[in-house]
Amino acid sequence: MRKHCHCGQMMNLGFRTVIFEGIYEIDNVPIYECEECSHYEVLPEVKVELTDLLARLKEEGFGEWVDFSEQNELAGLILAVSDKWTGTEEASFESVLERQCEEQINLLLDLYGGAKQLGDLEWMDSISKRLQPLSKFVRNRQISSTN
Ligand SMILES: [Zn+2]
Repeated sequence: MRKHCHCGQMMNLGFRTVIFEGIYEIDNVPIYECEECSHYEVLPEVKVELTDLLARLKEEGFGEWVDFSEQNELAGLILAVSDKWTGTEEASFESVLERQCEEQINLLLDLYGGAKQLGDLEWMDSISKRLQPLSKFVRNRQISSTN
């Protein structure tokens, strides 16, 4: 996946280990990087979750090393698609990812329906948190493709 950098070059999406305050290590964070000016930015769709995760690490002493792709389904899907990507596919990376996101969203919506029937508010809440980055990604894709 690619995105324009402020310097005019394209940035490529990759996965990096991010270390906060020299203590907390978050592995597999999807980050756009520019080869030209070494500007980088976290994938916008997971920014909120990354900040939340860091806050949780600090509060709960949740561990000093976390694999972000296991905490965030969008990051997990991107990593899974990247791992299998050969570069010879006819479809674009984004469209394959979008399809996988939609499948996962449908699955989570079914699960949400089940949780709702049970009246399990905590479960409903955790499912909607899982849904957020996925639906953000699909929504941003639809906005950019209509432009
Ligand atoms: Zn740049």
